[in-house]
Formats: sequence, C-alpha cells, structure tokens
Amino acid sequence: MENIIQLLPDHVANQIAAGEVVQRPASVVKELLENAIDAGASQIKLIIRNSGKTLVQVIDNGMGMGASDARLCFERHATSKITNAEDLFCLNTKGFRGEALASIAAIAHVELKTKLRGESLGTAVKIEGSKLKSEDVVSTSEGTSVAVKNLFFNIPARRNFLKSDPVELRHIMDEFHRVAMAHPQINFSMHHNDNDLFDLRSEPFRQRIIHIFGAKMNEKLVPVQEDTELLKISGFVGKPEFAKKSRGEQFFFVNHRFIKSSYLNHAISSAFEGLLLPNKYPSYFLNLEVDPKSIDINIHPTKTEIKFDDEPTLYALLRAAVKHSLGQFSIAPALDFERDPSMDTPYDQDMNKVSLPKVEVDSSFNPFRTQSKAAAKSNVSDWEGLYVGLESKSNSDFNSISEAQFESDALQSSIFEKASIKSTQSTFQLQNKYIVGTIKSGLVVIDQNRAHERILYEDYLQQITLKEPVSQQLLFPLRLEFSTQELAVVKNIEPQLVQAGFKFSAFDSETFELTALPVGVQDTFISKIFDQLISDVQNEVPDFNFSQSDLLAKSIAKSLATKNGKKLSIQEQEFIINALFACKEPTVTPHNKTIFITLDGSYLDSKFN
Ligand code: ADP
Ligand code: MG
Repeated sequence: MENIIQLLPDHVANQIAAGEVVQRPASVVKELLENAIDAGASQIKLIIRNSGKTLVQVIDNGMGMGASDARLCFERHATSKITNAEDLFCLNTKGFRGEALASIAAIAHVELKTKLRGESLGTAVKIEGSKLKSEDVVSTSEGTSVAVKNLFFNIPARRNFLKSDPVELRHIMDEFHRVAMAHPQINFSMHHNDNDLFDLRSEPFRQRIIHIFGAKMNEKLVPVQEDTELLKISGFVGKPEFAKKSRGEQFFFVNHRFIKSSYLNHAISSAFEGLLLPNKYPSYFLNLEVDPKSIDINIHPTKTEIKFDDEPTLYALLRAAVKHSLGQFSIAPALDFERDPSMDTPYDQDMNKVSLPKVEVDSSFNPFRTQSKAAAKSNVSDWEGLYVGLESKSNSDFNSISEAQFESDALQSSIFEKASIKSTQSTFQLQNKYIVGTIKSGLVVIDQNRAHERILYEDYLQQITLKEPVSQQLLFPLRLEFSTQELAVVKNIEPQLVQAGFKFSAFDSETFELTALPVGVQDTFISKIFDQLISDVQNEVPDFNFSQSDLLAKSIAKSLATKNGKKLSIQEQEFIINALFACKEPTVTPHNKTIFITLDGSYLDSKFN
C-alpha cells in the first residue's frame, strides 16, 4: 500500500495550533498583553476596534526586538523564554510555548513595529495568514506595537462563530481586568472605538481593584494576608453581606498569573461557611505566591489551569487565612472605617440591639504566626493611612470640641455614645455643608455636594461604559412629557440611557414611558434628571470629543448628588470620605471645581503664632 502519512505544511499546522490558542479576540488580547509584560513594559496600551473583530493592538514600552527577532517571533516554537526542558519547572514569564504569535499570524493580518531600547531605528513587519508581506526599517518608539487586524479573515466559520460585539467586548474586558489586577504596578490603558475605557496608573492592589470595579468596592473588602514558607497569600475577600448571585468577582492570581481552580475556590467557600445566604458567592481577589518549581502551568494551552504539588496543604492554609480575616473583621466592626452605612441600624433604634453579621469563627485563631495582625496592617496602602484618629485616645477631646462648636447633632451623638461606636469621632459636619475629617497632617474639609457628585459621576460613567445595565423595575410605568425638540435629545442618547439602566417602553412625539430605572435612582428624581440632562445636552458646545456617556454620567451625578444643607449621618459622612478617596480623581468635580481643602499643622501653627 502507498504511504499516506504526510507532514502538514507550517501554515496549516499554525492554523490548527491557532484553534487552541485563539478562540476569540479576547485570546489575542491576553497573549499580547502577556508578551508586553514579559518584555518588562511599565506602560501598556490596549486599543480595540469593533470588539476586537477588526483590531486588537497592544503598544508597550518594553525591551523591544531586533530586526531578526522581529521576523523570528512569528515562527512556531520561537521563544526567548526557555532554552531547555528544565526551564519549564521554574517559569517566571507568562509565555514559554512560543506559539502565540505564530498562531495569531496564521489567522489574521498582523503588523509589528518594534525597536530595541537605545537603538535609533526599529523594524516593521507585516504578515498575513502566515505569509510575510513586508519588512522595513522604520523609526518608531522604543518597545513594541503589535496590531492584529481582521481576525479569522481566512477561517469564515470561526469568524461567524464569534458572538455579538457586547459579548466579545465583555470577554476582552475580563482579560484586561485579570492582567491589570495581576500587575497593579504597571500602567495600563484601554481604548475601544475611540472611547477611553480605562486609564490605570501604577497603584496598590486595593486601588487597582477599586478602579476596575468601582468606588463601591472599597467598603466591601477585607484584607487577607499570610506568609508561610510554602505559600504567601495577600489580597482581599468581600464581606459576606456583599456576596453576589454570580461568580463574577472571584480571582486567584498565582505568581501574577490569573488561574482557575475549583479546588482552591472550594477552600474559600468553606471559609465562608455559615456566613452566606444560599446561592450567594463570595468575592475574592487573592494573590498566591509559591515557588515556581512547585507548580505545573503546562497542563492547559491557554494556561489558566495549574497543578500544585501539595494541594491539600494549600487548601488548608488558604481556608485558615480567609477564616482568620473574616474573624478579625467581625470583632472589629466599630473600628471598621469601610462598612456599608446601609447595613447599620437607623438612629431611632436602640443601638444596643445592633446585630452585625455573625461570624462563627474563633477570631483569635491563627494557625501560622502571632504577628499576622501586624502583617495585615502593613498591607494597608498609603492613602488609607490618611485617616488617623480612629483609635486614638485624643478622640474624646475632639468630640467635645465638635459638639460645642461645630453643631454636631446632640441627639445623634447621645445615641451613638450608648453604643460607644468610636467612628462617630472621626468626622463631623459643618453648617450641613462640609465634612471635616482628620488626616495625618491636620484637617481635611470636604464639600459634601461636590464630593458626592464626583463619586456618582465615576460610578455612573463606569456603569454606562463598562457594565451590563443594572435596573430596578418600576411597579407602574412612568410617563414623561417633553417638547418634540427635547424628546429628540433623549432619543438621541437612548442607547447610553439604556446602558445606564433606564428602560423605555414607548416613545411618541411628546412623551415617553419608562419601565425601569438605574439602581439607586428614585422615581421622584426622574423628571429632574431628564430636565437637567436635556439642558446639559443642549448647552454643551458641540465638539468632536463630545462624549454622550460622559455627559450623561455628569448630568445624573449632578441631579442626584446630596445637596449642601442636608444633614448627613456619621455613616454617610464616612461613606463619602471613603468613596471620594477611592475615586480616580478625588480633587475636583467633573466640572473642575475643588472638592476639598486641607489645613495642615504648619498652617495652624502659623495662625497661633
Ligand atoms: P512566548 O511568549 O511563548 O515566548 P510568543 O509567540 O508569544 O511566544 O512570542 C514569541 C517571542 O517573541 C517571545 O518569546 C519574545 O521573545 C518575542 N516577543 C513577543 N512579543 C514581544 C514584545 N511585546 N516585546 C518584546 N518581545 C516580544
Ligand atoms: Mg507569549
């Protein structure tokens, strides 16, 4: 019989490999971002068009490549990251298979521009379906830019298999989040069809989480920290009362690589045992650091699964560390500056009856070392140290001053005295307009309305640009009347309004009907919001950077922000302070007005001269 076995040509082999590596645009995003990180970049920019279907581009300021590497990197099994099989057991890089670029180039149009650090000229290479189209010497900036266009152009079946734009964008965002969270010290930005979705600056892990998931996250996080020889754990778990209906906010990073592990996930669930309502899943953002020799990342082509040498021990350590953190959190609610005010008992109830979430664990339990509490504290990032005085002895003086001279509500403080909640002493309100708090260097005075406007603005902007809309259904539809011209304005921004959580059931010439509102928006505010919005849109000077999403977020924030003149509870004051300083830009309002001033010790000293 004739010989029938043949070797597959390279481009076919590459296409087959691509099937494993590249499922969708998000896979390209992951590979390119990881290459940029492996190249030592400190600044990484991700540019997406049409949810990655027409363009995924990553620009980094990493080490770049020389002319021959710029060609070679598209060959299969071309990698600079390992040279022999032993290297596989002590990986410090994301990539090592050397097949990502070869696979991507087999199924897309790829344009690479790269320049080594310190060189004056760089290289540009174009490849389409594994075929080299051009190679030029070019002037370009240091680092590498890889643009992947028309993904699956030569495999229509795969292209047709892609999901709708929002779904593919969601996948891309998930990858971006994972990589950005695994490397909070790196600056990342993300742009989609000319919208700037993220601009993340090098920051502590906690800030990175907040900038990705929104300011509200700040109050939900409980730090977890343990160091053992086998495993270092750091990061956060979500407080039990904020557990979610889906598993969306569960992240393990092992040696800065996002991984999935149902086994370790189980360790967390069991640490939360008894604290969660049925069908609720705890959030977690945990970094695990282990000896690279003790793991095998090689078991899955996209490397999100991992095998550990000693899984049962990791399980036990992780479970114990999380339990310990939850235990500490439960005994210190009064000192917890980050709790959710809505969880607190209203003032007119006896504070003694307050029952904070019960955590059935021994809070002094620590399987590892005695100084872990200190270790957990040292993890608290810089800006959190801004607020001092929570536990300080001088607080009682502070409180009496505030009562005597700063119109603190007497009734309120007497109720709180009974419960001796110390955090009553950390802030107070002045003229129902300013929130005054202590910072390390002196005092901070915050304009409550402006602060709240900033918080709401960032929240809604994120909601509108990034998230699935979250709505609350109205019992009865709301019908609103406007002029035809005003209605045209509303109609024009309908997609953004829907993304923000509004649901429209009907539009006719002068009215429209709403069946649902964004979560947190009361129906009594509705006509105000739309009046404000319409006038904002009409008064906006039209220009090319005009972003309707931005305008909508600004407008809703303006309408809903707590007004000056409103008395705020201590919890509300604290919420505003916490959420404000978790904002990307806490210093000014979306309209560029100063939000707070500080009075530092030296200024006070000079006044008492
Ligand atoms: P791997 O990452 O597994 O090594 P890839 O196909 O992703 O394989 O990349 C092949 C090689 O190309 C890498 O090993 C690296 O040397 C080089 N390379 C890829 N992307 C970059 C980049 N952004 N900066 C510098 N070198 C890169
Ligand atoms: Mg790679």
